[in-house]
Amino acid sequence: MLLEQHESDFESIKHVAAYLRKSQSMGDKDEDLLKHKSVIEEVCESRGWSYVLYEEVVTGDTIEGRPKMLELLSDVERSQYDAIFCFDIDRLGRGGGGDREKIGITLQHSDTYLITANPYKIYDLNNENDDQAYDMQSFMGRFEYKMIKKRFKAGKRIGLRLGRWVNAQAPHGYTYNRKLKQLEVDEEKRPIIRKIVEHALEGMTLADIAWELNKKHIPSPRNKKWAPITISRMLKSQVYLGHIVGNKSEGNRKRVATSSSKPFKYLPEDKWVIVKNCHEPLITEEEYDLLMKRFSNRPKRIYNNKIHSFTGLITCGKCNKNMTMKRFGNGKLGVAKCECGNRGGDIELVEKAVIDTVEALRDNLNNIQIDDVEKQKKNMLNKKLDDLIQDCDKQDLAIERIEEAFENGLYDIQKTRKKTEERQQEKWKLEKEIRNIRKQLTSVDSFDSKERITAIDKFISDIENEDSGEIKNKIYKDILNNIVWTRDNEKRVSVKVNFL
Ligand SMILES: [Zn+2]
Repeated sequence: MLLEQHESDFESIKHVAAYLRKSQSMGDKDEDLLKHKSVIEEVCESRGWSYVLYEEVVTGDTIEGRPKMLELLSDVERSQYDAIFCFDIDRLGRGGGGDREKIGITLQHSDTYLITANPYKIYDLNNENDDQAYDMQSFMGRFEYKMIKKRFKAGKRIGLRLGRWVNAQAPHGYTYNRKLKQLEVDEEKRPIIRKIVEHALEGMTLADIAWELNKKHIPSPRNKKWAPITISRMLKSQVYLGHIVGNKSEGNRKRVATSSSKPFKYLPEDKWVIVKNCHEPLITEEEYDLLMKRFSNRPKRIYNNKIHSFTGLITCGKCNKNMTMKRFGNGKLGVAKCECGNRGGDIELVEKAVIDTVEALRDNLNNIQIDDVEKQKKNMLNKKLDDLIQDCDKQDLAIERIEEAFENGLYDIQKTRKKTEERQQEKWKLEKEIRNIRKQLTSVDSFDSKERITAIDKFISDIENEDSGEIKNKIYKDILNNIVWTRDNEKRVSVKVNFL
């Protein structure tokens, strides 16, 4: 179809405009763009062409949404360049036909060539053959893209109906089995989820459940401290019943203003698709119903007079039992005497000890730098993990494309098998790395010092501005594990404060 090209035909090319663009839909990353750039630069240098870079920062679907392309076209109109050079023809755009024609006509009118690196080809759109090839290429690009997009979406929907897990991340307490494409209970986390459910059924408040977990240094799903909202979201999620809920939203969250895709929105519950019994449940239907009843019946806000600021927090330094609080004859609150004989005393001693310790801790944290190293390590690992997961998804997409090529008769069965196998091998390698990094991530300390300092500042101001004993109790439980009280005689009181 294409006529053979002769370099000599294009001797007039001296100065080119290099156009670079990441294609979001193809999952391009910064590295891909760098690769494109270096390929283009290499070709330019080897041919002795001078070049100017037009690098698109935003990636709109249509050329109207791409400022660099608009700038380039107006420069081309003024015949500033001998050619536009892009990595492949898809870079110019996949928007409606109008865009493609606009670029084509601009190139024709200004006698500007078009060069692609992949495959390496120079188009002269005033030459009929080249013009046809250009049309064909850009049509193929758009067609292929639409097909992939459609297939990807259909795959997700069909997968959902088959009870396959189709979201990016497995919910806390589960792992994703890539081969079976479904969720499996994470045996390490099973007891944690069960404990949460049991506590909630016993009537513990969400804040107290969070406190219990933080006291045991059990990291939250995001490897941080547990918050009541995280627990309520978990208990309300039907995933733990063994169901998969899909179609909760439509459109693309990352949509750019000029894009032609649907705007993002959440869908009402009656539009959701719920597929039951897809994986092992961690919460039974009966438990779930009880929990939901509890959530909906929860009273607005009643103050519990039995809860004082340090209720549940004071431990006896002699026998390790929990010490209670009581009101003394003078009306003042204090620590009640322990069964073991450890004497109680004024609550102000505890309050002062807590504030003193907290302030000392704050000063200490300011001097600690070591956590930054940990944080950097964590960030690096997280970034690596994201990249690996994306790479893994790319392999999946590639396998789909190979199968598509087979269906369309482009590949024979041998070629299809060979190519699929290669991708599969690559995928397994990536999956192994992902497991490795997940392991490393859990060993990195989950609380860093900056987080702690912010929490401490908030704590101090909250305590100073609060009168209710019950609320103070909640605030203390945000950062304290317990307070150990020991009193030998009238004068010697020791108060030790332990943080979460
Ligand atoms: Zn005691």
